Amino acid sequence: MKKILILGSTGSIGVNALDVIRKFPDRFKVVGLTVNSKIDALEKQIKEFQPEFVVVTDETKAKELKSNIAGLCKVFSGYNELLESVTQMDYDILVGAMVGFAGLAPTLEAIKRGKRIALANKETLVVAGEIVTKLVLEHSAQIIPVDSEHSAIYQCLIGENLNEVEKLILTASGGPFLNKDKSFFETATIDEALNHPNWKMGSKITIDSATMMNKGLEVIEAKWLFGLPVEKINIVIHPQSIIHSMVQFVDGSIKAQLGLPDMKLPIQYALTFPERLKNDFERTNLPAINNFTFFEPDFDKFECLKLAYNVIRTGGITPCILNAANEIAVDKFLKGKIKFSQIPCLIDKALNHIENHFEPDIETIFECDKITREFVLDAVV
Ligand code: NAD
Ligand code: MG
Repeated sequence: MKKILILGSTGSIGVNALDVIRKFPDRFKVVGLTVNSKIDALEKQIKEFQPEFVVVTDETKAKELKSNIAGLCKVFSGYNELLESVTQMDYDILVGAMVGFAGLAPTLEAIKRGKRIALANKETLVVAGEIVTKLVLEHSAQIIPVDSEHSAIYQCLIGENLNEVEKLILTASGGPFLNKDKSFFETATIDEALNHPNWKMGSKITIDSATMMNKGLEVIEAKWLFGLPVEKINIVIHPQSIIHSMVQFVDGSIKAQLGLPDMKLPIQYALTFPERLKNDFERTNLPAINNFTFFEPDFDKFECLKLAYNVIRTGGITPCILNAANEIAVDKFLKGKIKFSQIPCLIDKALNHIENHFEPDIETIFECDKITREFVLDAVV
């Protein structure tokens, strides 16, 4: 029986993780759940999964929950208690399903305890990939990717030699604006950007998919997870989202992993690896899909993609600047404060303004995140 702690249990990945866990009651026991503020959803989860503790980062909401559930489980509150629970409580697997930079610190704590981390929070590897991968080795921790592309590559690499990999091919749906002209970005609305053709996800990653920043972040994530140079990481547009990614080997052979666009599959794999457990999830009906198409990505239209490749080549703290600027810009777009087309402009501005540092330590990364956020917030007003 594996004890599971889910960070971000009310989000899209958190809910899918609980859907998987519900199917295997003799394999997994939920010991902890954390959320930012959605206590109504959390209360239902507490009643069903009976965790030992929960953390609500919003302190007012935590108080409210405490009085609502009257002693059903321990309730901690605030970000510091979230970190303490990751550091001190008993669990085997951490599901990292918080969104954004806030996911970094708890992931680092779980790594220091040598835990298995089913990692959805790609921002952790984007901002601190080098530090994270070193710590994982030092503490014999294990990161199993939940991001569907990286889960696919992970599965394709089983039994293979990394030296024989010619390139990774990350597939991208292209998002809701794949067939729009760049001029459309001037007037694109929040609803249009949130209308992803294949995946139902949280709002931040859905906007990242519309700008294609998501794929840029995933290239950085792949670099650190698989230890390959950016020259060996390619993107191909595959609008059907059935091939989740591929690996091409030095003999020209390509291995791919396929499945429906449903995060339950990569989440289950990350929880049960190296085993595969039989489930009753819907199967892929290939004849019904009819055809698979592939295109080159358009770097001129999707400027965020270009910015992401630039920061990988530049290195230092530039991925952290890119990430923080993107988080603020996306938030401002979702609040109707900026146009869709301004997202890459703000990120570019931050990258030009903030001085780079090479081989940053973790304090430098936290400081960089903070000053970038302040810079972009000032730039918007
Ligand atoms: P979401 O917005 O649906 O959920 C985020 C969860 O994190 C919520 O439970 C929220 O309460 C919690 N949270 C948010 N900010 C917090 C904070 N500051 N402190 C504590 N808790 C906080 O997001 P999501 O779509 O589930 O994505 C989660 C992560 O997984 C992201 O990093 C995303 O890029 C990655 N991911 C998601 C998908 C997907 O299908 N949704 C696919 C691949 C990767
Ligand atoms: Mg993905």
